[in-house]
Amino acid sequence: MLLERYVYPHHKVCGEYVSNEVMPYLEDLGVKLPKTVSIDTLQLSTRKGKLLQTKLPLGGFGISRYAFDHALYKKALSAGVTVNFETVKKVTFLKDSFNVNTERENKYSAKIVIGAYGKRSGLDKQLNRNFIGKNAPWLGVKAHYKFPEFPDNLVALHNFEGGYGGLSKTETGAVNFCYLVSYKSFKAEKNIEKFNSTFISRNKFLNQFLENAQPLFDEPMSIAQVSFEGKQLVEDHILMCGDTAGLIHPLCGNGMAMAIHSAKIASEKIDNYFKNPEYGRIKMESDYKKEWTNAFKRRLQTGRILQSILLNPVASDFLMGAIAKSPGFIRSLINSTHGKQLSL
Ligand SMILES: Cc1cc2nc3c(=O)[nH]c(=O)nc-3n(C[C@H](O)[C@H](O)[C@H](O)COP(=O)(O)OP(=O)(O)OC[C@H]3O[C@@H](n4cnc5c(N)ncnc54)[C@H](O)[C@@H]3O)c2cc1C
Repeated sequence: MLLERYVYPHHKVCGEYVSNEVMPYLEDLGVKLPKTVSIDTLQLSTRKGKLLQTKLPLGGFGISRYAFDHALYKKALSAGVTVNFETVKKVTFLKDSFNVNTERENKYSAKIVIGAYGKRSGLDKQLNRNFIGKNAPWLGVKAHYKFPEFPDNLVALHNFEGGYGGLSKTETGAVNFCYLVSYKSFKAEKNIEKFNSTFISRNKFLNQFLENAQPLFDEPMSIAQVSFEGKQLVEDHILMCGDTAGLIHPLCGNGMAMAIHSAKIASEKIDNYFKNPEYGRIKMESDYKKEWTNAFKRRLQTGRILQSILLNPVASDFLMGAIAKSPGFIRSLINSTHGKQLSL
């Protein structure tokens, strides 16, 4: 059973670039995606307007979350998953099983619970998770635009003071502009329209985009309190997946692939737990933690370092200079934030 707060389909703040590492796995699972946009080239610019372009080693595809999440939801239904649209407010573990309570006052019991509720939710407070009291100083903003001249095969990452923004096409032909910015910078304007016209437009490539593109949403969407703090992978016996287990910096364009990969790891351990009576809960949890850490720890660390470099003007100019001299260097950076292709 899947308990989900919002009915599908719906838009979501996200860069909407999916790494090809999960494409074979999605195909093996029989997920039917609409015609997506194939992306094989990355452009990077500094706030001073230095621009670099490189081929992506593995590449990816552009698809709106509206379409992608809906396709996954339809696949889950056809595989026999019961989906109830309600918000979970409490999960408790008692005597080798869980009680799950929702805001509609429904109660469920389950042998296994997977926590896949994203970056931050009321459940984190209920579970008293480590990171919840810490600073979450980032804001994400997204909107779709009409800008047909933007190349289909490109994902562009442009740096501005206090943040960076990504541009890439989705399956509808719309260009997604999604950015992450620190509150410290955003609070100078406190308003998305003003922030776009003052701060973001100082990057000449984003300025050119915002001046020529036509917004397709009534208003941009935003999410607050984005945090990249480390998290526990298992809390009170709940196996945490996707962003609930750990969020990679969005500039790596790899959060969705990691979420799907972590779900694959969890599903294999859970399958083993149900099939082999001698494989107990504790072993299942420790195997999940071990495999998750092997797969993602290094990527998260590299993502953290890259983000701190990108947000420092001197360091980012230096990095861009190094990348310009050695195209192999950027490929090895990209490889260290991505994994190999996954399959069943
Ligand atoms: C600005 C920004 C740009 C990004 N760009 C990219 C990108 O280009 N490419 C990429 O791969 N990744 C990107 N990411 C990361 C990506 O969005 C996430 O890694 C990915 O969505 C994680 O999937 P998930 O299933 O773990 O969480 P989510 O996609 O957030 O799904 C969690 C679900 O849980 C539901 N939920 C929450 N609480 C409850 C509750 N109490 N009860 C019931 N349901 C609940 C929510 O409604 C939601 O549907 C970006 C992130 C940000 C912030």
